[in-house]
Amino acid sequence: PRMERPVDAEHMGDALERVLLTEEEILAGLDRMAREIAADYEGKDVLMVGVLKGAVMVVSDLMRAMPYSVPMDWMAISSYGSGTRSSGVVRILKDLDTDITDRHVLVVEDVIDSGLTLSWILENLELRGAASVEVATLLRKPEAQKVEIDAKYVGFDIPNDFVVGYGLDFDERFRNLRCVGTLAPHMYS
Ligand code: 5GP
Ligand code: MG
Ligand code: MG
Repeated sequence: PRMERPVDAEHMGDALERVLLTEEEILAGLDRMAREIAADYEGKDVLMVGVLKGAVMVVSDLMRAMPYSVPMDWMAISSYGSGTRSSGVVRILKDLDTDITDRHVLVVEDVIDSGLTLSWILENLELRGAASVEVATLLRKPEAQKVEIDAKYVGFDIPNDFVVGYGLDFDERFRNLRCVGTLAPHMYS
């Protein structure tokens, strides 16, 4: 039997306004994505690149939903701009350990919001001579997108609200939440 989990929505008090996706829905979405990814990359040399820190949970569960092993690597980037808004001006804090020349790269993200960060990452990885660069994201906010990102694998389209949980933080909090939800307005002030 599983231990009781203290990070479910009902234990969040009034911090959450609304649960958008339960743990079960998230894992089902990742299963579906993993099936598509597994079929597309069968027999190919693919590297999963997670973007720290938000994609930690996504990479973990996506990788474990795959029917065969896929190596992982990580990038950490900082985008200049105010707390909740990205500017697209990006600095690499931690680069890949792996040489991706001629490799198939699958960038794994938590959420595509404006798309500015990801478009910078994709251009950067393509310049290194990857054989291909594709995107898998758990969440996408179609109304927030400022640049077109052709994400091949998308878990869920969500409204243009600030969300937390399943790796996504507000000031480093709520990453441990197993669901994804919107933060109650009183939490911002
Ligand atoms: P973008 O460049 O697409 O606007 O967003 C880049 C990053 O901002 C995302 O990878 C994520 O880390 C963060 N972000 C965007 N939207 C949200 C959100 O609703 N909640 C949280 N916690 N982070 C977000
Ligand atoms: Mg991210
Ligand atoms: Mg954050």
